[in-house]
Amino acid sequence: MKSIRPARPELEYLVPYDAKDIRAEVMLAANEHPSNLPGEIVEKLSDRLSEFRFNRYPDPMASKLRELIAEANGLEPANILVGNGGDELIFDILLAWGGPGRTLLDLPPTFSMYGIDAQVTGTEVVRIPRDAEFEVDGETVLARLSRGDIDVVMISHPNNPTGNIAPETLLIDILNATDALVLVDEAYFEFSRHTMRPHMERHPNLVILRTFSKAFSLAGLRVGYLLGNEEVISELTKVRQPYSVDSFAQWVAASVFRERVVFQQAIRDIMRGRDTLMHGLSSMEEVTVFPSEANFVLFRVEHASALWRDLLHNHSVLVRDFSRAPGLDDCLRVTVGSDQENERFLAAVTEVLSQRRASQILGNGAHSRHGTVGELGY
Ligand SMILES: *Cc1c(COP(=O)(O)O)cnc(C)c1O
Repeated sequence: MKSIRPARPELEYLVPYDAKDIRAEVMLAANEHPSNLPGEIVEKLSDRLSEFRFNRYPDPMASKLRELIAEANGLEPANILVGNGGDELIFDILLAWGGPGRTLLDLPPTFSMYGIDAQVTGTEVVRIPRDAEFEVDGETVLARLSRGDIDVVMISHPNNPTGNIAPETLLIDILNATDALVLVDEAYFEFSRHTMRPHMERHPNLVILRTFSKAFSLAGLRVGYLLGNEEVISELTKVRQPYSVDSFAQWVAASVFRERVVFQQAIRDIMRGRDTLMHGLSSMEEVTVFPSEANFVLFRVEHASALWRDLLHNHSVLVRDFSRAPGLDDCLRVTVGSDQENERFLAAVTEVLSQRRASQILGNGAHSRHGTVGELGY
C-alpha cells in the first residue's frame, strides 16, 4: 500500500507543543536557573563517573532519591513518585485521573501543559478564567466543584506565567469541596516558600508537584517528583513508563538533593534579582508589572511582541512572548537571570522604549502588533 492509515482523529486539531528553541546571549525565556550546577557537585560526580553502570536498566522507582525526598518531607517513600520532569507526572495524572468521559478543571491563564495533556489523553477541560489580576475566581470554582463531575483540578502555585499564589484558605476550601484529585503544582516552591504539604494528612486527594528544573539547575536532566497519598501514588505507578527516569538523572538528582543547602545562596540571589527586575520595570511609564512569588516576572507593555522582537534581534535578549495568549494580551515574561543578565535586560527594555518615545514624538511611531507568533507554555 502507498498510504498511511490516519492517526487518532482527536489529533487532527492538535498542534505540537512548540518549545521555541531560540538561542540568544541572554536566555530569560524558560525559568531556568541562571547558573550551571555548582562546581563542587560536578567534581564529586566526575570523581565517581568511571564506576557508573551505564549498561544496567535504572531502578524503576528511583528508590534512593525517593527515600531522600520522603525523609526531607516527613513522609514515607510510598508517598513519593519521581518522574522524567514534572511534565511527565502531569501527564501521568491525566492518564490515570483523566481520559475519555473524565474532566479536568483548569484555571487559565496558567501552565499550558495541563490543557495540552488533557487534550492528548482525551480528557474534557472545564476552564474557569482568572480575573484581571490573575486571582482564581474562588466562588465559581467552588460552585462548579459542588456539581461533583470534576475528576482532577490543577493549580499552579505560584501560577506560571503570572507569578501570583492563591490564598491558602481558598486551596483548603477547594480540597474540602471535592474528592477530585487536586494537583497543587509547586514547581516554584523554593522561591515562594509556600507549600500545601501540611494539609496532606487531612486531604488524601491532595498531590503536590515539585521539580529540580528551576531552583536546582537541572532543567536539562528532567527530574520532578510528586508528594501524595499512598493510594494515589500506587494508581500512578500503573500508568507510568517504568524506566522513564534514567539512572544518570537519578544519581545526579540524589547528589543535588543531598547537597541542597548549597543552593540557598543562589535562591536568595534570584529573589533579590526578582526585586531588581520588578523595581526596574515598574519605574518605566509604559510598563505594568505583576507581583511574583517565583523566579520570573510577568509584565504588560503596549506592542509587546514588537518589544519581544527588538529585544531578541537588537539586544540578543530572549524573554517569553505571551502577548497572544488568552487573558495575557501584551504580556511578556522575563526569567530572573544573573545580575549582569538582569541589568542587560533592563537596559535593553529602557533603550527600546525610549527609542519608541522618540519616534512617537517625531510622529512615525507605527508599531506593528504582527510578525511574531505568540507563544504559550513555559
Ligand atoms: C517548570 C514547570 C513544571 C515542571 O517542569 P519540569 O522541567 O518538567 O520538571 C511544572 N509546572 C510548572 C507550572 C512549571 O512552570
